[in-house]
Amino acid sequence: MITIGITGGIGSGKSTVCEVWAGLGAFVLNADDLAKEVMVTDAEVKKQLIDSFGSESFLEGGKLNTQHLANEAFEKGRVKELNAIVHPKLPAAASQKIEEAEAQGYDIFVYEAALLLENLKPGSLDYIVLVLADKGHRIERVKQRDNSSEEEIRQRMKKQRNFEKATDRVDYVIRNNGTLEELEKKAEIIYQSFLPERDTQKS
Ligand code: ATP
Repeated sequence: MITIGITGGIGSGKSTVCEVWAGLGAFVLNADDLAKEVMVTDAEVKKQLIDSFGSESFLEGGKLNTQHLANEAFEKGRVKELNAIVHPKLPAAASQKIEEAEAQGYDIFVYEAALLLENLKPGSLDYIVLVLADKGHRIERVKQRDNSSEEEIRQRMKKQRNFEKATDRVDYVIRNNGTLEELEKKAEIIYQSFLPERDTQKS
């Protein structure tokens, strides 16, 4: 089983690359989805969320009240508090998913996370891929995708690291300043390089 981490700034194209890889047979795990899962399955996390963010963190039936938590985190500036509760649980939860993917016969496991470089334990993933795109492209693409304003996007970008300065910490860099088709092609080529070498014996 080969494990890949993929990171990059908002609107850089991470999810698009992951969609290509999923189509080629990879097991893809998104860090935000994993965090949401941990928030409802881990009793300790649940208790801490209720203690810090109130019982309204959960809806009737135990479903996560994402609207309430997003409001607390982003509108009230409590992202760090929320992350401090959930992030320590992610490595073990991700390891569990890797085991599940392996048991299901996947060859490639992909972990998609904007905060990958912050939370990464050295050697925990085989390869790290960084997706980069110019600011202007990212703003236009996110505007279209989320219907959000340029100002909102710029504010979110400001809170992220400068990924251009992280190229020496990764194994692959994908530059996504061209067409969607060009990105898909680059994703396919990199994917092939992950795959274990197959016997090319002629019969
Ligand atoms: P986020 O961190 O915000 O989740 P992301 O890095 O996962 O972003 P994507 O969702 O893959 O980024 O891409 C952002 C948007 O831009 C999507 O709607 C995607 O379809 C589009 N997009 C990505 N690459 C290109 C491209 N080369 N040309 C046109 N549109 C693109």
